[in-house]
Amino acid sequence: MKHIPLNNRFLDLGSQFYRKSKPVPVTAPALIKFNKNLASMMGLSIEDTNLQEATLIFAGNQLPEGSIPLAMAYSGSQFGSFNPQLGDGRAIYLGEVNAPDGKTFDVQLKGSGRTAYSRNGDGRSALGPVLREYLVSEAMYKLNVPTTRALAAVTTGEEVARETLGPGGILTRVASSFVRVGTFQYFAAKGDLKSIKILADYVIERNYQNINGVDNLYLEFFKSVVERQAKLIAQWMQLGFIHGVMNTDNMSVAGETIDYGPCAFMDEFNHNQVYSFIDRGGRYAYSQQPPIGLWNLTRLAECLVPLFAEDTETAVELAKEVLQSYETSYEKAWLEGMRIKFGLVRSDDNAGDIQDKKLIESLFEIMQMNHADFTLTFFYLSRLNLIESDIDEKLKKLFDKTESIEAWLGRWRLRLSEETTTDEERQLNMQSVNPVYIPRNHLIEEVIRAAEDNNDFTLFHKLHVVLEDPFTLQPGMDKYMLPPEPEQVVENTFCGT
Ligand code: AMP
Ligand code: MG
Repeated sequence: MKHIPLNNRFLDLGSQFYRKSKPVPVTAPALIKFNKNLASMMGLSIEDTNLQEATLIFAGNQLPEGSIPLAMAYSGSQFGSFNPQLGDGRAIYLGEVNAPDGKTFDVQLKGSGRTAYSRNGDGRSALGPVLREYLVSEAMYKLNVPTTRALAAVTTGEEVARETLGPGGILTRVASSFVRVGTFQYFAAKGDLKSIKILADYVIERNYQNINGVDNLYLEFFKSVVERQAKLIAQWMQLGFIHGVMNTDNMSVAGETIDYGPCAFMDEFNHNQVYSFIDRGGRYAYSQQPPIGLWNLTRLAECLVPLFAEDTETAVELAKEVLQSYETSYEKAWLEGMRIKFGLVRSDDNAGDIQDKKLIESLFEIMQMNHADFTLTFFYLSRLNLIESDIDEKLKKLFDKTESIEAWLGRWRLRLSEETTTDEERQLNMQSVNPVYIPRNHLIEEVIRAAEDNNDFTLFHKLHVVLEDPFTLQPGMDKYMLPPEPEQVVENTFCGT
């Protein structure tokens, strides 16, 4: 099949980076969803006429012409403990697509059978996690958050054994890189500096082409990774996204959200929110994400340090300086994003920044104390006028007690009176970042139940369509913007491994 022309520069890095590994064919592949828009961005010529043939590729039953598939090696710090031997245990890298506009897209099958790194796992994926990743990663893309994407999802016609037996699925996943912090750790653990350098050069060439003409290439590379990650996590925080399993093997060095396992968007705002069943200690709770980002980047620094300078002491100092810039980058990205979210435009000075930060943080405190829904709070806030209206009442209804939110709205309006924007301008700006629809946990759960129990994908397609345009109020779609009823609340999410 020529419709997915693939290169594989990763193959040339050296055999220490991977094990060649072919997808294991499945008995009855059936397409659930194919992402036409993404395919056209990638320059793929998959049309209705050859979609059936392409489905065989998405299922791993056929290989794209010339593809030499492989499983990548990596390590990972999982919940703080280093595991030297992970790697693609249920994913297979097919190669890269070079799009007509010069962009590069790495393509991977997830759930396509055992590899050399599968350990005791079956190399397969249950259907539920495939649907979850499809919906959430595509929603993130539409929410303008850097992310891996979903090109296709198929059912396999085979069962996988998890807590119970259930239908299997395969996701065709696309990223600008599948190299993780853990990939660098893999070679650092072996003391293989040569491979660390090869890997860094590969990532720089493909994902950090903006870096050139600098004195210290690897330091600049590390700085850019730190900055992208800081900005990424700030975006998660602005939307109430909880990754759930921020192990270093689940952190991309390209600054994209990767590995959607037990991830979730929160409904009621809560700094300490955790959904992941295995995250008992709350290591990856909502508000832990910024410091965990730094912890993971510190692990990356440990791998790259020998490349920063010949003298170890100097190299460590340089690394520390960059790590210190993480907090500044994060704070800056957080405040910039929050300002837009809150409709605050002017920022004249440092004192203004501190004031705005206080105003912003105090709303989150009030939301937490009053069990207010994260997304709906900002939905109404971005429709308020400078003068009180009936929308104020709708907003207040989200809060258990109204006094503190009333007082806060007074402070917010006072702050807005310093702005020169009109109500309409402010509302448009705010509505461009405050979504109406997010992939709420209970909606995903409903989609998965229908698909796994009844082979019914209607709800999957419906939810997907709504999430394609998350910032626009869509008539008749109230169900998709509302928080769960008490009996619909999903307390725990699972890795699906
Ligand atoms: P994850 O939970 O996706 O971050 O996976 C952590 C590690 O476990 C990675 O090395 C995965 O490839 C591996 N893994 C997860 N699920 C499976 C599975 N069903 N079969 C084989 N390996 C798996
Ligand atoms: Mg992973």
